[in-house]
Amino acid sequence: MRYLEPRLHLIVGPMFSGKSTELLATKERYDLAGIPSVLIKPAKDDRYSETHVATHKGSSLKANVVAKSLDVSALCEDADAVFVDEVQFFDSGIIGVFKNLRALGKVVYGAGLNMDFHGEPFKFSDGQAHIGDLLAISKPIYLTAVCMAEVNGRICGRDAEFSKLTVADPGSHIHVGGEEAYIAACFEHFHGQ
Ligand SMILES: [Zn+2]
Repeated sequence: MRYLEPRLHLIVGPMFSGKSTELLATKERYDLAGIPSVLIKPAKDDRYSETHVATHKGSSLKANVVAKSLDVSALCEDADAVFVDEVQFFDSGIIGVFKNLRALGKVVYGAGLNMDFHGEPFKFSDGQAHIGDLLAISKPIYLTAVCMAEVNGRICGRDAEFSKLTVADPGSHIHVGGEEAYIAACFEHFHGQ
């Protein structure tokens, strides 16, 4: 008989910190153990792939794309381990969904952005809660990136916790983009130049 300790983990950090890579590597370990799992992502993120969770380096796994948090549970009935990428793009109902999946005895791994490009905890799409509310009830796996700011022609290289927008402010807390619109930045280079 299979036994899993019900758990809720949140892989959290800025852009370019390897969150999706970590999520996919963890799922692969569960796959190797023969534990049924499911990979889910919200429809909002259309970077690189509509139907796969892709890392910046190009590896990917097929994902179930859903429009809202209420659609997640039905996909998890046959899975003992649940992997959800880009959790910050869901509505705040995702917090209750994760708690419910854990109560059903499943292992849940979410991956999401820590902060928006203003340096504030990333709000879920309905604005009712933010990533910190989910982090508070999860076992955190906190990743940092490497600061990509240029100083005198060289890369800073310090630990980066921030996602810094390098294009014009779109006027909301969300601007879906990749390397063309963001760098990872340390505290100094997020707040200064
Ligand atoms: Zn820096």
